Amino acid sequence: MACRQAPQPSWQAVPGAAPISRKDPKVSRAAHRPTREGRPPVTRPQLHLLDDHLGIDLPRAERVVAELLDALGQDLSAEHLLDTPRRVAASYAELLTPVAFTPTTFANEEGYDELVLARAIPFWSLCQHHLLPFVGVAHVGYLPAGRILGLSKLARVVELFARRLQVQERLTTQVADWLQEHLEPKGVGVVLEAEHLCMSLRGVRATGARTVTSAVQGVLREDPRSRQEFFTLTRMAS
Ligand code: ZN
Repeated sequence: MACRQAPQPSWQAVPGAAPISRKDPKVSRAAHRPTREGRPPVTRPQLHLLDDHLGIDLPRAERVVAELLDALGQDLSAEHLLDTPRRVAASYAELLTPVAFTPTTFANEEGYDELVLARAIPFWSLCQHHLLPFVGVAHVGYLPAGRILGLSKLARVVELFARRLQVQERLTTQVADWLQEHLEPKGVGVVLEAEHLCMSLRGVRATGARTVTSAVQGVLREDPRSRQEFFTLTRMAS
């Protein structure tokens, strides 16, 4: 069965606005409203993430979860199962909804040109093949050029792409591509280590096995010394 592809995040420059979402048109309009003095706020334009909603149909999801449980031979009238279809639908909706954030960047005024690395960022995602979680840590680094990113935002970027049906290889690449595209650093490196419940609990039952994926771009890919430094630092985290 074909899986619906999650939409790609989109970006828009909104002068002086708070983070907004297309889900809330009131906020969106307010963000463009002039101030009381009749002038638009004079602030540096910021980028804001607009999370395209996945078009989740909760009542329908609830119905098909009930159907699935029934098809799996479960007794839907059992007390503990009565509200399960609603709970499951709501859980998946939550797990598949990205969290909007403001990816604040700053001018690299000091000309910092060493590796910036956030190690062991905890993350989870849902395997696109089995709808089971995979859970682990991400090491995300970049060699700054003109802009640097708020440190907590590296974790936000991982979360942004993790909250959708994923395969680990794609998740790794998407985080790296995002940083390359929006920060334009000299280099980017992303390493993910995760345990896949579809491997641990079923199939080969490889409990504790961790899958490691990496994506390196720019100087971290081309310069052996920088590449070595990046992978040494990520290994120290595990
Ligand atoms: Zn799987």
